[in-house]
Amino acid sequence: MLKTMSVEHSISIQQIRDTLGTCPFDPHMIKILNELHKDQGAIHIISDANTMFIETILEHNGVGECVTSIISNPAKLTKENEVEYLHITKLCGEVEESKHGCTTCPINMCKGEIVDKLVKEKDPNGITVYVGDGGNDYCAVRRLDLNYDFVFARKGFVLEKKLKNDHLLDNDHVFLWNDWKELYQLFVSNGLINS
Ligand SMILES: [Zn+2]
Repeated sequence: MLKTMSVEHSISIQQIRDTLGTCPFDPHMIKILNELHKDQGAIHIISDANTMFIETILEHNGVGECVTSIISNPAKLTKENEVEYLHITKLCGEVEESKHGCTTCPINMCKGEIVDKLVKEKDPNGITVYVGDGGNDYCAVRRLDLNYDFVFARKGFVLEKKLKNDHLLDNDHVFLWNDWKELYQLFVSNGLINS
């Protein structure tokens, strides 16, 4: 199923791009992305937004090249009679055959299944570091091996509550963070990036 948004040329998709470009990244977030990239870590963004929004924001902040892959709802731009259209399709279709197999995640995206696939593809000696905040991040977190892997959950959001309910906040590899500076410092103190 296509969800289509059309925008008159005079208030064009360029304007959406420009607006997205004004979303400032915290300098510590940029530092984290640059450091991980320098250390040859693979960075995957898994998001229920769409690929165009994420690509645009990353590029405006000069970190597009740091990111290995963006796994999100696919966005495509087309132009007809001087009108630009932004087509956003669901990552997993609504028809039963293409739906993911998870019963707890939203129909269009199971972050757990995505993480499972990425973990299988990675260097077997490498670890996985997961940063998230939403309820749909919990399915992904449950796929990790917390003896080796790390989870950084943003304080005050649903992921924290779900981790707390399952007593996972006591785990040595699970951390809470308030802002990007704190996340950066936690990455440094855990030896995940060099200061
Ligand atoms: Zn799931």
